[in-house]
Amino acid sequence: MHMLFLAIAAAMLLVAPARAGGEPPSVVVSIPPLHALVAGVMEGVGQPYLLVPAGASPHALGLRPADARRLELARVVFWLGEPLEAFLVRPLRTLPREAEIVALIEAEGLILLPPRDGMGSGIDPHVWLDPVNAIAMVGAIARTLSRVDPPHGRRYDANATRLIARIEGLDRNLATLLAAVRRLPYVVFHDAYGYFENRYELASIGAVTLDPGRAVSARRVADIRQRLRDGGALCVFTEPQFEPRLIATLTEDTAARVGVLDPLGIGSRPGADAYFELMTRLATSLRDCLLAAR
Ligand SMILES: [Zn+2]
Repeated sequence: MHMLFLAIAAAMLLVAPARAGGEPPSVVVSIPPLHALVAGVMEGVGQPYLLVPAGASPHALGLRPADARRLELARVVFWLGEPLEAFLVRPLRTLPREAEIVALIEAEGLILLPPRDGMGSGIDPHVWLDPVNAIAMVGAIARTLSRVDPPHGRRYDANATRLIARIEGLDRNLATLLAAVRRLPYVVFHDAYGYFENRYELASIGAVTLDPGRAVSARRVADIRQRLRDGGALCVFTEPQFEPRLIATLTEDTAARVGVLDPLGIGSRPGADAYFELMTRLATSLRDCLLAAR
């Protein structure tokens, strides 16, 4: 009996990895907000690699050679999915079969909305801007990582539970922050905020463009100018990578103030906090501009 026990113990020692749980899997994530959620789930285990460099729009992007190599070596790839990151469709198709590819737009429990009226068909891909969706994605991320890397399964689960509680707290804070500006009309540059507006019952009266990578037509500009005046928009929100000249044309002869919204969290350092910073900054930018213009 003792001998058998010792033999088993010795065998276990031989196969035991040097570090508790062993090496983390190589994980690649497509955009900053999803990277933040994955980083939160992987805390204390490893760091995911962020594909889309901060500042670039996922709507119009090519893959850099260094990123292509990272992708080829990945054990797990988290991306949002084709409606947002068309540039990844082909590279993902050619990955080795062992790679686990997870389109988070397919996460269980996700609330999906169509794009704003008259702005295309299908699904609005900016799903992370509703904390309820972020929570659903955290669940999907933890389940995937635990399946691929069972030795760290308990760590992933514990991290996910903590992250979800933190996101619930964020959601409550944002609701409080935005309560004062709920009925104040505004226009956004790119149709990215449907989920945020739906969650916090905001009064957006339109978006200038569906795709920030494409030029805006003169007719569209005229249409938005009309809406700005008719709807009495208090603010027009641009984005960090957006051309300021067009905003000037839009707001000329109107009383609207100009604010900046950043749906990707470009200014944040990559990591779990980036999601919280992105969401809080969105809420405070909206609130500051609308309250000042009221
Ligand atoms: Zn977008």
